[in-house]
Amino acid sequence: MATSIVLGAGMVGVSTALALQQRGDDVLLVDRKGIGRETSYGNAGAIQTEACEPTAFPRSFGFLLNAATKRHNMINWHARAVVENRYALWEYWRNSAPARHAAISQWYERFTGKADEYHAPLAKAANAEHLIRHSGYIAACRQASTLEAHLKAAERLTQGWGVPVTELSNEQIREKEPALKMPLAGGLWFSNVWTCQSPGALTHAYGELFKQRGGSVAYGDAMSLAENEGGGWSVLTEGGRVEAERVVVALGPWSSELTERFGYRIPLLRMRGYHRHFASANGPNSAMLDVDNATFMSPMKQGLRVCTGAEITQFGAAADLRQISRSEKAARELFELGERVESTPWIGHRPCLPDMLPVIGPAPRHNGLWFHFGHAHQGFTGGPAAAQLLMEIMVDGKSPDWAEHFSPARFG
Ligand SMILES: Cc1cc2nc3c(=O)[nH]c(=O)nc-3n(C[C@H](O)[C@H](O)[C@H](O)COP(=O)(O)OP(=O)(O)OC[C@H]3O[C@@H](n4cnc5c(N)ncnc54)[C@H](O)[C@@H]3O)c2cc1C
Repeated sequence: MATSIVLGAGMVGVSTALALQQRGDDVLLVDRKGIGRETSYGNAGAIQTEACEPTAFPRSFGFLLNAATKRHNMINWHARAVVENRYALWEYWRNSAPARHAAISQWYERFTGKADEYHAPLAKAANAEHLIRHSGYIAACRQASTLEAHLKAAERLTQGWGVPVTELSNEQIREKEPALKMPLAGGLWFSNVWTCQSPGALTHAYGELFKQRGGSVAYGDAMSLAENEGGGWSVLTEGGRVEAERVVVALGPWSSELTERFGYRIPLLRMRGYHRHFASANGPNSAMLDVDNATFMSPMKQGLRVCTGAEITQFGAAADLRQISRSEKAARELFELGERVESTPWIGHRPCLPDMLPVIGPAPRHNGLWFHFGHAHQGFTGGPAAAQLLMEIMVDGKSPDWAEHFSPARFG
């Protein structure tokens, strides 16, 4: 019998399995698809040490008007999904107010601000350092007003968290990115951000490290989780039912489907995103965010990955190509993109909580049931650091005061 089962082998689950193993747990990692095949595969691949503040809903009248009329590419929405998620969205909106957002950021930053310190030893031990680039990313602004707003936000990041940011003129951006096709108002260079050429491969490499260190991985369905009569938990895997003293739910956007079965209604908002690869031979050298079009471009093994902003839609709804089409158009204005690599874009979901903080800790009414999910826009970044907190609470029995901000108990 394993000591712990971790359900979900994305960046969060794999990091959790490694952290528990580090403290001597005999860990079984279970996933229905294998390691790093879902959100941790399809994200933009940035290890975002600059993301000390969670992604807030912009509150300016101009943005709201553009969002309501679907003119801004940062957000797309569907009425049914908005109605279904109205309470969670309303809370998210309230938490986006400057004072609340600033208070939340001090907890959020614990996993993002120093994320590189947690990824570095894992990437080294997993022989995966070649997947990581250290050239940062440029937030490129087409409009002077966008640049001005972003300079203000960057100043806050520098003053509050010491994030290094360099303002770049159009000429300086061109020096870094000679293939750029059009002039820009300017940009910001977040030089300390790491970017990954294959987020799925990095997650997979961490999973291989877990196996090399003696961990086990099995295909199985987390929805088969059951509480044993005499204590402990079991789940059905390819090799039969396996048992453990405790279990961690790390199913990313699918987590709330399982927690609900045990009576925990956690208001997980699943913010959809799309990506598509292009066979560009003349794209950007490093990652670039087209701020005005909410489009992130990052050179990856499969080609130039173009990623979109968030879509509020029903989980499992058909693809709406509005954002990815606009992102493709915007990226083509900036660079020669070449042919599309895939016929259909990838779809994934950022697992977000209304208070913008992940859920990390014990289930309030079940012994041995633990939750670790909801890392929203930065789970690829923050997974390893957050896993340390879970491990400390779960194995060492420590619970720093600030851990209460992440507790599942906040949702009843
Ligand atoms: C377009 C986009 C761009 C992003 N860019 C970035 C970025 O640049 N940097 C960053 O830090 N974050 C980024 N994110 C967010 C980041 O990808 C997520 O926060 C993170 O990947 C979540 O990891 P996870 O392990 O919680 O979830 P996942 O990686 O989705 O892992 C969940 C796992 O659970 C498994 N699973 C689900 N149901 C079951 C079941 N019933 N039985 C067994 N297994 C099951 C799945 O197969 C999956 O492997 C982005 C997200 C999107 C959508």
